[in-house]
Amino acid sequence: MAAEIQPKPQTRTPVLLGQIEASQDVVNTAVIIPKEDGVISVSEDRTVRVWLKRDGGQYWPSVHHTMPAPCSCMSFNPETRRLSVGMDSGEVSEFIVSEDYNKMTPALTYPAHQGRVTVVLFVLEMEWVLSTGQDRNFTWHCSESGQRLASYRTTSWVSGLQFDVETRHAFVGDQSGQVTILKLDQDSCSLVTTFRGHTGGVTALCWDPVQRVLFSGSSDHSIIMWDIGGGKGTAIELQGHSEKVQGLCYAPQTRQLISCSSDGGIVVWNMDVTRQETPEWLDSDSCQRCEQPFFWNFKQMWDSKRIGLRQHHCRKCGQAVCGKCSSRRSTIPIMGFEFEVRVCDSCHDSITDEDRAPTATFHDSKHSIVHVHFEPTRSWLLTSGPDRVIKLWDMTPVVS
Ligand SMILES: [Zn+2]
Ligand SMILES: [Zn+2]
Repeated sequence: MAAEIQPKPQTRTPVLLGQIEASQDVVNTAVIIPKEDGVISVSEDRTVRVWLKRDGGQYWPSVHHTMPAPCSCMSFNPETRRLSVGMDSGEVSEFIVSEDYNKMTPALTYPAHQGRVTVVLFVLEMEWVLSTGQDRNFTWHCSESGQRLASYRTTSWVSGLQFDVETRHAFVGDQSGQVTILKLDQDSCSLVTTFRGHTGGVTALCWDPVQRVLFSGSSDHSIIMWDIGGGKGTAIELQGHSEKVQGLCYAPQTRQLISCSSDGGIVVWNMDVTRQETPEWLDSDSCQRCEQPFFWNFKQMWDSKRIGLRQHHCRKCGQAVCGKCSSRRSTIPIMGFEFEVRVCDSCHDSITDEDRAPTATFHDSKHSIVHVHFEPTRSWLLTSGPDRVIKLWDMTPVVS
């Protein structure tokens, strides 16, 4: 389906609902509490806090708990109000938050890792606590008994972890840029496959269990949409950030992907568009348009008495072309390029206005982002950053 062409400039933007600025250090993870005007945050300053909005419109902590080590990550299950907190010490501590969100009772502590816990994920259906650490281990514990069930050694430390309950597949994205799919059992796991598409480390993963699509965000500024369920193995690149991608969330009702980067950029992608895969780059010893030799092609350079040229590639057709034959730039949103990229002259002429219609909207959170959380029922987005600030956004103007 082709996107509609919007001639008017972008006027719909996220609305800032509130701001929380009481942490002493980076807020590594924070989540919006569904059905409450509240937030749970964990910070490098060792605190776990529950913030509720009071009459004056400000958020005040109803729980303020100091942990023995800096809190690196967290997972909150609203149904059971179970809060799992990963720490710099390698431990994962669990709490049950009271129904009125005014109290937090300690449950279990797992000595899960030898170094900082990088991701923690509680899976209610399995009663599992999945975690990854800087010790390069991916482990899972039984949340009932506290017992360690199994672990898997990853190639590099992990910063993105997702789990598909239906098939018991874990998606593990690491700092080497690799995504590993593991099939988990009660006390073992098997490697399904690994894939690699990023030139930088994977910073975030987001799984859509309905479309069976995995999104990976990277420090190389790009996002890749991996069509796991389609069976064709297509991978579509989304280029819309000019800095490290730090967080990904999916809005299932409207089929939109929300991505955030360390420069504060928020991009809302329309995933109801059929995008084309980028072509493989072709190899050639001379420009595939004007036939001038590239600089390593000494024989032809000598024979035709011409100067060797530098090789470039057209992002649309993948042909190897010289600079003169690819002097123009274009956005190609239909291929995931929301920014202008190099295209050859003939491709430039073939790109229509419809092909150029943006399939994403761009917004500025005005703070550096390390973490994002989306609450779909109210369409609220939370961003937190190294500036120690948590911002709450109403996304209804752009997620609809
Ligand atoms: Zn040329
Ligand atoms: Zn081309």
